[in-house]
Amino acid sequence: MKTKYLCPECNGILNIDEDIILIAKKKNGEKGFLLLHTKLGNYDHKMDSTLKIEQGEQVDFFCPLCQIKLEYHKKKTNLSKLIRIDENDKESQVIFSNIYGEKATYHVEDKKVLSFGQQAQKYTDPEWFL
Ligand SMILES: [Zn+2]
Repeated sequence: MKTKYLCPECNGILNIDEDIILIAKKKNGEKGFLLLHTKLGNYDHKMDSTLKIEQGEQVDFFCPLCQIKLEYHKKKTNLSKLIRIDENDKESQVIFSNIYGEKATYHVEDKKVLSFGQQAQKYTDPEWFL
């Protein structure tokens, strides 16, 4: 079984093979599909060619199935969260930056945090995942 990524709200599966399908919405209301890679630390992505997101621009991610905002925390609006189920059926959380071009991803499993990406230090907070 392959790794699955689920919406924390509706538990819908959001990936097809190696693409996680999300809706990205800019502050000006423009939105479109944005595909992220399933491999942690791989920042390859695809998006609708009409959606222009600048480096450093913050977007919000939404579940394409239930439309909920995938925010990690109300006060940490530049982080999003997904549920990850690995090939051994083990559930964990993946938290990642919403800022375009910022490489910061956290894999939280059994209160252990693994970080990925060059900017991962930016959000280091020992209490945030407890
Ligand atoms: Zn959902």
